[in-house]
Amino acid sequence: RIVVLGSLNMDIVLRVPHAPDAGETLQGRSITNVPGGKGGNQAVGCARQGARVQLVGCVGDDAHGRALRDALAGDGIDTAAVRVVPDAPTGTALVMVDDAAQNRIVVIAGANAQLEIDEAALATQLAGAAFLVTQFETPLAQVGRALQVAQRSACKVMLNPSPMQPVDDAWWPLIDTLVVNEVEARMLAGLPADTPTEAAAAGQALRARGVARVVVTLGAQGAVAVDATGARHHGAPVVKAVDTTAAGDTFLGALAVALGSGNGFDAAVGLGIRAAALCVTQPGAQPSIPQRDAVLRHTSP
Ligand code: ADP
Repeated sequence: RIVVLGSLNMDIVLRVPHAPDAGETLQGRSITNVPGGKGGNQAVGCARQGARVQLVGCVGDDAHGRALRDALAGDGIDTAAVRVVPDAPTGTALVMVDDAAQNRIVVIAGANAQLEIDEAALATQLAGAAFLVTQFETPLAQVGRALQVAQRSACKVMLNPSPMQPVDDAWWPLIDTLVVNEVEARMLAGLPADTPTEAAAAGQALRARGVARVVVTLGAQGAVAVDATGARHHGAPVVKAVDTTAAGDTFLGALAVALGSGNGFDAAVGLGIRAAALCVTQPGAQPSIPQRDAVLRHTSP
């Protein structure tokens, strides 16, 4: 069982020939509502790998909030701890995708900004859970409280500090597995992380702050796994990437489930890479997250 605490967004995806300039009115090609948000995506990433998942988050009392909860429940996710807040809209990401496949995204936090930890309820959820998985798309003070509750509940924490914000020094020893992309690795470590060799050094610098394990994801270059025994680079399979939305979240979900079910660190990173490679071949956030069977069918790199 995995507890995911985080953001829930409806992604409103507009396909446009090009991004409109100031003052320009443009005919778009299409509009689609796609369930997203890092918390929701990571929960789906875990659930589609076969884990039991409890989600802690907030939506507004509106159609998007109901659609998100229905979609998550459709993946078998326990949404009892998804609170409906009366006075804020469901989190929304307005995603404009042009004909060159470039994204321009505006996020409105909405209900996500009202997430507040119920420490007793969270402690009950975390007792006996394999991981608390969380990110930085909900208020940082609440993330910090959740990490403390996890420590008191002897539940391991997998943190994805995304979107990038500085990590409180007191938090490092509370993190079991830190998952960062190249940008987050560079900002947090203060070191370049563009190549596997650089990412290994940046990951080792982050691990030295008190984290047990670090993964630096490197897009098409795969990922670097860092633990007490050293740093290892794992390449990604070559795929036709159409949309990398939710690739990191897919990776994280598969990694958490694999570690939680007793796989070694490198085997778990390998599963994360295979799941994420399938994700980038499909458009959108949650619809692009693969099921376990598809990942297992996919040959390893
Ligand atoms: P984020 O999307 O969070 O910035 P990355 O771009 O590093 O993170 O992608 C996360 C993971 O998704 C990578 O470690 C890799 O396994 C997979 N991935 C991303 N882009 C590609 C790609 N073009 N080909 C294959 N795998 C990819």
